[in-house]
Amino acid sequence: MARFIGIIGSQRVMARIAIVDGMATQAVKHLQSLGNEVVEKSIGKELLSYGALEGFDAIIVRSATKLTREVINASKGLKVIGRAGVGVDNIDLDAAIEAGIIVVNAPRASTKSVVELTMAHLLASARKIVIANQGLRAGLWEKKLMAGSEISGKALGLVGFGRIAQGVAMMAKAFGMEIHAYDPYLPKQIAEQLGAQMHDNVDDLFRRCTHISIHCNLTEETHHLVNARRLALMPQSGKDDVACGNHIVNCARGGIVDEEAALAALKSGILTTLALDVFEVEPIDPQNPLFQHPGFHGTPHIGAATMEAQVRVGMDIADAVNAALIGEDVATRVA
Ligand code: NAD
Repeated sequence: MARFIGIIGSQRVMARIAIVDGMATQAVKHLQSLGNEVVEKSIGKELLSYGALEGFDAIIVRSATKLTREVINASKGLKVIGRAGVGVDNIDLDAAIEAGIIVVNAPRASTKSVVELTMAHLLASARKIVIANQGLRAGLWEKKLMAGSEISGKALGLVGFGRIAQGVAMMAKAFGMEIHAYDPYLPKQIAEQLGAQMHDNVDDLFRRCTHISIHCNLTEETHHLVNARRLALMPQSGKDDVACGNHIVNCARGGIVDEEAALAALKSGILTTLALDVFEVEPIDPQNPLFQHPGFHGTPHIGAATMEAQVRVGMDIADAVNAALIGEDVATRVA
């Protein structure tokens, strides 16, 4: 049953919800149409720690706002935290559980967008699109230097084989790539159904694949999973014997690729390109030495930043938060 909280004007208000990192207008209107009072404003770290969320029933964040133990303990009365997106690494889940706060997320809304960005990075790497564009803008016509390789006929290794990786597998297969995967937490049959070969050992993926794309979660186990030793295992030549070099893409989470090791591998030629949407330090350190290397290109964590994904993510989290507030079971509950 919906919990009646009060009256604003002539409208019955079910709950007071703070949206602190922005949300699609359509989703805000949806929450309001369900009878909730919505307050949209960004709240700084200090104010959050001093209890700025007191009096709110729910908060919806993206990745910018950090809901630390201190913030959660200061937010008396908070019942639900909604993460508009997948990763909940900005929320202290233990503190939320101890405080009896339900945490829900919207894991599926951005899948297609991240799949497409991953393909864009893979293709940009193989065809030197970023560096060719920089040359053009500098007045250079470097046709020979900008010769690349096809992704068709090459082996693509996917570390993690969840929602996004499966989408990438389908698209990359359509491009003619051979798909390999490593995911110790997933039944092999899921990979087989999609025509991918599942490996028991992540090192085998590095030995077999000239192109590797990261799609696992950031955990203690996956921190610096892409390191100097594994990069050195990569084969440099494709199954078709073309010397296409080695390519890494990470559109999952910063910290899975050891950036220092990757830069050293770019400098030594072990790695040909490195494409990152996510970084060990975000927002980015402008002095990051990767930016000086022509084999690197990147995007500022924009995997989910499409018009379509933002509307989907907003609508999904609005429904999840509203359902949690009125006591319904939520399939995307994470704590
Ligand atoms: P998912 O949960 O469907 O898939 C993650 C997979 O990683 C799971 O199948 C899991 O079993 C696997 N995994 C966990 N530990 C592993 C390990 N040690 N080795 C190999 N695999 C392991 O998640 P998803 O929606 O496909 O998201 C994948 C990644 O993309 C996540 O890190 C997520 O945070 C990130 N992401 C990034 C953006 C962006 O803006 N760039 C947007 C959405 C998601």
